[in-house]
Amino acid sequence: MKDQIAQIHIACKQHIGQPATPIVRDGDRVKKGQLIASCQGFGANVHSSIDGTVTTVSEAGVSIKPDAIQPLEYVKIKETNDHLEAIKEAGIVGAGGAGFPAYVKFETDLQGGCVIVNGAECEPTLLHNIQVLEEEPENIIRGLKYIMEMTNAAKGTIAIKPKHKVALINLAKAIKNIETEETKETKETKETKETIGRIEIKYLPDNYPAGDERVVVREVLGVELEVGQLPLAVGAIVTNVETVKRVREAIDLRKPVITKDITVGGRLKDTLGMRGKVFLEQPIGMPASYYIAQCGGYVLPVGEIVLGGPFTGIKDEEDSWLTKTTGGIFAAMPFPVAEYQFGILACECGATIERMRDMVAQMGGTVVSETLCKRMVEHGGRFRCEKPGECPGQTETALQLFRQGAEAIITSACEN
Ligand code: SF4
Repeated sequence: MKDQIAQIHIACKQHIGQPATPIVRDGDRVKKGQLIASCQGFGANVHSSIDGTVTTVSEAGVSIKPDAIQPLEYVKIKETNDHLEAIKEAGIVGAGGAGFPAYVKFETDLQGGCVIVNGAECEPTLLHNIQVLEEEPENIIRGLKYIMEMTNAAKGTIAIKPKHKVALINLAKAIKNIETEETKETKETKETKETIGRIEIKYLPDNYPAGDERVVVREVLGVELEVGQLPLAVGAIVTNVETVKRVREAIDLRKPVITKDITVGGRLKDTLGMRGKVFLEQPIGMPASYYIAQCGGYVLPVGEIVLGGPFTGIKDEEDSWLTKTTGGIFAAMPFPVAEYQFGILACECGATIERMRDMVAQMGGTVVSETLCKRMVEHGGRFRCEKPGECPGQTETALQLFRQGAEAIITSACEN
């Protein structure tokens, strides 16, 4: 394993909700897959991703010194026929960024609605979900079927951009194979299985933010969600590819969430350009610096380390740790010196106003005016986009910023 790593750090709060409570102490020996912090109320269990010795425990998390030799096997979650219970035991949370506890999301009756797997992989550089769809299509379809069963959905859809041809071909083959298996089983058992033929693939537009939940619902179901409305309002659940993979693992393999799929990219020797390098099944708690080294180190000069994708990722440090929601590690180029008076034009789907203020400061500029894309409306105390992905021209808004004294504009608006 990663024997050069002195210690890993597993956070107690890797999800929306209450942090898990540590149940181990300094000096304890722990096994890979062992529960180390338990779910409190609305939250998620946390498990050790390695065999090792606990070095420090705090409310924030558990640090563990890895053993030199790591086993392939892991401590399994308890046997249960209740799929939701398995998901809760395994500590599954939405892997796409928000970290919503999966057992809460899937404890719903869609009454014949639809489960949509979001395979948009919208952010530049990120590729790991597409690689999973290419390499493990059967696992994703099995996971999707489990979620459909749990939520009483009549239909399952995998939403993907048509440019991902290998993933599309492999998914189509896998759907056919599983349907053939089910047809055979049906004939043998003489049962009527309504599951056959309920999974389909739908195309998403090849733009940003095609992966926005409301864009996905609009493209798949042809329904426009209101600002603040959840897909549940139209009988749908949207879930991330990796979350579906973890559901399949918890139910079929009794595996807790101890690994994460990530893409590493940016100004690193092996990843320069738009293609990131994919690392699947990485132990949760590993430091970002390990993957920077695995990609040959920095191409100098280098700027910020961003966790997540280049558009919506968060500025962080190279000694930050992988969590259940880390999607990517990105080494950015340094900001240019631009000592201008800036206007900020913000969008819901990109960098926030606060993030752009920070960027302007790092460039040596001054913010003289700020505004939002004209599709943004106030809802529940914050500004939301009315129609994500149907992006208007911004000329009028840009002229307004110039009239207010801006010499240059920094924007997170998606198009135009
Ligand atoms: S319409 Fe405006 S706020 Fe909405 S996604 Fe497009 S640029 Fe962003």
